[in-house]
Amino acid sequence: MPHKTWKHRCKASENQSITLGVQVCPECNEVGEYDGLGLTGIEAQGNFNRLTGLPSIGPHRQTLPHFYELCPVCSGRSIIEIRNTGTWVSCRSCGGTGRIITVCEKRFLEIQKKAWSVIDGWRLEGANETKRREIESQQANRVYRSVYRRDHYRPKPCKRIRRYRERYEYLMSATIDPECPPELLEEWENLTPPKSNVDFTRGRGS
Ligand SMILES: [Zn+2]
Ligand SMILES: [Zn+2]
Repeated sequence: MPHKTWKHRCKASENQSITLGVQVCPECNEVGEYDGLGLTGIEAQGNFNRLTGLPSIGPHRQTLPHFYELCPVCSGRSIIEIRNTGTWVSCRSCGGTGRIITVCEKRFLEIQKKAWSVIDGWRLEGANETKRREIESQQANRVYRSVYRRDHYRPKPCKRIRRYRERYEYLMSATIDPECPPELLEEWENLTPPKSNVDFTRGRGS
């Protein structure tokens, strides 16, 4: 559960900037600056797992390359606070993980496989027969994560574009007819898509 957080420079800890779940620091009794809703450390670790499918801690962590960054929409908080109602929603831009993958699908898969080979290698060391078989069955059934798509942020086509598409489809079928009136034929020949600054052929995040 997200909870309220306050940031402050704690005099009791050499003026370090710390984030607290309470407004008044129990160490130095000073009032912090409200910093919005945040997740607890354990929840944030769960986010790494949801993003990558990998355990949040383990020997693979040091071997991981740079492949994600904090979500620019929620600043890595995973949630969006609705201030005037005091509620929150899971950030849709990052799927509530607080991070977005910056590499392509293929590279993301390679990274996961490499990390799992480090984890499995580490777990297989000194594993007995039963454990070994368990790990091998996990390897065989492993499902890898794909890059989370932010499709719900694709812009909806505007009215002009929708009208054009409808007209396009209508004229396309009408002009096949040998009895098609010449006005329609002419309209079909001069039909041009409306100008739009949105490129509908792209939009898949990567
Ligand atoms: Zn303090
Ligand atoms: Zn986000």
